[in-house]
Amino acid sequence: TKEDLKKKLDKIDGKGYKAYKDLEGEYEFEKFILYIDHVQGDPFAPPSRIRVKVPQNIADFEFSMYNNPSRQVALEDFLTRSVFEVIKRLPSLKGTGHSGDIYIDKGGQQIIKRSAMVVNKDYVEARLSIGLPAFGRRINGSGAQRIFLEFLPQIVEKSLLKKSLNVQDIWLWVETVEDQDYLRSQLKERGLVAFVADGAILPRESGISDRPLKGGNVVPFESPDSLRIKFQLPNRGEITGMGIPEGVTLIVGGGYHGKSTLLQAIQKGVYNHIPGDGREFVITVADAVKIRAEDGRRIEKVDISPFINNLPNNVDTTRFTTENASGSTSQAANIIEAIEIGTSLLLLDEDTSATNFMIRDARMQKLIAKKEEPITPFIDRVKQLYKDNGISTILVMGGSGDYFDVANCVIKMHNYRPYDVTQEAKKIAKEFKTNREVEGNNEPIVIKPRIPLKKGLEVKGKKIKSKDEDTIKFGYQEIELDYVEQLVDKSQTNAIGEIIRYIASKYVDEKSSIKEILKKVYKDIYEKGLDVVSSFYGKHPGNLALSRLQEVAAALNRLRSFTVK
Ligand code: ADP
Ligand code: MG
Repeated sequence: TKEDLKKKLDKIDGKGYKAYKDLEGEYEFEKFILYIDHVQGDPFAPPSRIRVKVPQNIADFEFSMYNNPSRQVALEDFLTRSVFEVIKRLPSLKGTGHSGDIYIDKGGQQIIKRSAMVVNKDYVEARLSIGLPAFGRRINGSGAQRIFLEFLPQIVEKSLLKKSLNVQDIWLWVETVEDQDYLRSQLKERGLVAFVADGAILPRESGISDRPLKGGNVVPFESPDSLRIKFQLPNRGEITGMGIPEGVTLIVGGGYHGKSTLLQAIQKGVYNHIPGDGREFVITVADAVKIRAEDGRRIEKVDISPFINNLPNNVDTTRFTTENASGSTSQAANIIEAIEIGTSLLLLDEDTSATNFMIRDARMQKLIAKKEEPITPFIDRVKQLYKDNGISTILVMGGSGDYFDVANCVIKMHNYRPYDVTQEAKKIAKEFKTNREVEGNNEPIVIKPRIPLKKGLEVKGKKIKSKDEDTIKFGYQEIELDYVEQLVDKSQTNAIGEIIRYIASKYVDEKSSIKEILKKVYKDIYEKGLDVVSSFYGKHPGNLALSRLQEVAAALNRLRSFTVK
């Protein structure tokens, strides 16, 4: 019980930090059970991990607040943020190293399934990290007593019991997330790949902040009449906005008129956003993949031949391997890998694409004959991708009108407002022929799924750990994820590291493809929860947030030791 914990703390006060290890175990409090799962070795080590479990009859959340997956994620997210707010207002007990810190893994602007909070019919459980307090390397017993016996009960009292929370805010969270998931589930039926609500705020505070831009100069989104559609949402009711149809959509317009901002909002639209973000109702099909050039990345036996052929030295492009891809080969590989794992929408921006991958105009075709040019540009595949593979594309292209011929929707951004210029663009395409030859062939793009081998996933050296949002340490190697733009949370990166370890120990049988393996992992996650991929399953699992299989595959594809059959 709580008294046992107090006795232990009295006993170890002033001793060397290692004596804290005695605390590991379970303690019953009046309203919750405290689990001290892991105690750090010294004040500079990663903080200790604890869980606080409140029985649902005490927490008292109505079942309807979490009775479907959308609502459950929303309530869990809401409670995590509530805990965070309470922690923020606690007095500081900061000592040596990280000692005195109390932490919960709250998300950013997105609402994603994370391991920090679990709500179910039986209990509410918060997973916290605590830097056990120290003076130098000695135990600060009275500090620890304050944290465990005073602060934790306060955190529970103020943020994990329904009676202390603003129930209206809870419902706002729950209903907004449910509406977002509902809208996303309706896109396909309506023949759409994305939706941008009227009134949405797309621009962000800065290049390093995901929060909404504020101030009088922000232009809220306003859909053009011809693309405006309505949805009936289960909670919010009617909503209007711009529907982007399946097929090939171009976003055009002058520099600095908001093209990339629109595309970036769309690429994040695979996630739900918190109320007040501005992008709550910018909703994109869940499997959309941002494609960009990424020179320097590794490629492992990818069939990039639909885009690239006849490289110098007779390099085989049906099983293309390189330690150092070029702009165009990396962009081709990114597309093929997206198709391999499954996608219905590609998102490309001229700002981050290889020019020679995107266009090859009539004059260049005259000067450099097709047989001297390995690249079949994207313009000659984009329609086919839709026709044969059912994969739509949204493309930002302010620099070349050649794409007018292949687009079925053209949106112009002007002063941050969209205009439907499809008819105008078609007319221009008729009047001014590009005179370019269509390249490539009409063979459908068929991707043979690759089968991972065990040897490429062995961890040499220590372990798998995320270093920051964009890097996973994989033993002695590092997986660079800087250009995997739809990775939005450091805890997703953590989870990907864990998933790779989980896959390697469980599912790499040298018969299953990457996609088949990932499907098994996600089935486990849906059945047993996100914790299942953690090496500490059953205890505090670490700070994990769910990523899509697209991002896990992206990490595998960038692992330098990764090998396939
Ligand atoms: P483009 O890709 O067309 O060159 P960007 O999308 O990069 O333009 O936008 C240029 C600048 O305008 C950015 O700093 C962006 O934050 C800002 N911006 C974009 N949309 C809006 C908007 N709706 N209201 C105010 N500023 C915006
Ligand atoms: Mg741009």
